Amino acid sequence: MTDLYRMLPEEMEDLVLELGQPRFRADQILYALYYKFPKDLSEIKQLPLEFREKLTEKGFTIGSTKEAHRVESEDGETTKLLLNLNDETPVESVLMQYKSKKMFGHPRSTICVSTQVGCAMGCVFCATGQMGFERNMKAEEIVGQVIHFAKILLEKGQHVTNIVFMGMGEPLANYSETIRAIQLLTHPRGFGIGQRHITVSTIGIVSAIEKLADEKMQIGLAISLHAPNDKLRQRLVPTAGPDSVKELIKSGKNYFLTTGRRVTFEYALIEGVNDMPEIAEELALLLKDNGSHINLIPLNPTAGDFNRPARKNVIEFERILYNGGINCTVRVEKGTEISAACGQLRTDILEKYNNTIN
Ligand code: SF4
Repeated sequence: MTDLYRMLPEEMEDLVLELGQPRFRADQILYALYYKFPKDLSEIKQLPLEFREKLTEKGFTIGSTKEAHRVESEDGETTKLLLNLNDETPVESVLMQYKSKKMFGHPRSTICVSTQVGCAMGCVFCATGQMGFERNMKAEEIVGQVIHFAKILLEKGQHVTNIVFMGMGEPLANYSETIRAIQLLTHPRGFGIGQRHITVSTIGIVSAIEKLADEKMQIGLAISLHAPNDKLRQRLVPTAGPDSVKELIKSGKNYFLTTGRRVTFEYALIEGVNDMPEIAEELALLLKDNGSHINLIPLNPTAGDFNRPARKNVIEFERILYNGGINCTVRVEKGTEISAACGQLRTDILEKYNNTIN
């Protein structure tokens, strides 16, 4: 079985020609996939019946994800989907909306996609990390998450404006499928979103960051730093190497020099672990004159023993960085009450939802 959402436009052309059809059939399929979101081949009426039958006979299908559950935050700005993949593996994806500042403007609609079922990195404060690793997701399964939300948004006359690879899993540990998904999502004849509207977030696989820089794409990169020194970083990110802080600063700089895209360092603020003033001073010194941006993420409640710092500690941490000349923001909190926020995604919520899934 091959999901047509896996195929790049050039591959789609090869396929239709191979099956004795004119080249324009590829565009008919692509248009349907990315503008009409058909459930199956029978819904692409522009294609002759015999051709649809031939595609089915050859094992081509549409869609690798099925919605199992949907939950919306009280303010309606965050929606979490539990999707079942074809092998019945559940994964989670999130839509976060931010109101437009213009009077009748469309909201910014950011989709957070998962790239792996579980994660092997085992970050101690992350719910996904505590699940362990199950498997890599395929490009069509990653794209499928965006398509589900695009369909939901279309019904409201809205559209996807940004995609962040920040859901379950480490995208760069599933490198080739992540890159294929980005190609499908950004191809002008595919989903067609601009590369600058995509951000990949990584815990920091240095060799993969270098490879990504060499792809010379215009996508944004976020590196999860979480600590200004290796001793503390290795406590929070058990897979981190002994020299990871220095290496990540270097590879962030290289990514910027190669692509021209500024790198964001993500920093999960954890009470009593990495939120102290002296740590903020160490971080400011580390990133001084580096030109990068740091995004502080007060830890969201997860199953672990770690807590979110008090608001005043977050403000103090931010102040020290700011006074140290560091460009810094505190992430706007979204979807905490529906466990859709950063570090909260895990599929054992299935147990909770068992009564509602059919
Ligand atoms: S924070 Fe990211 S890399 Fe770390 S365990 Fe969670 S999903 Fe994996």
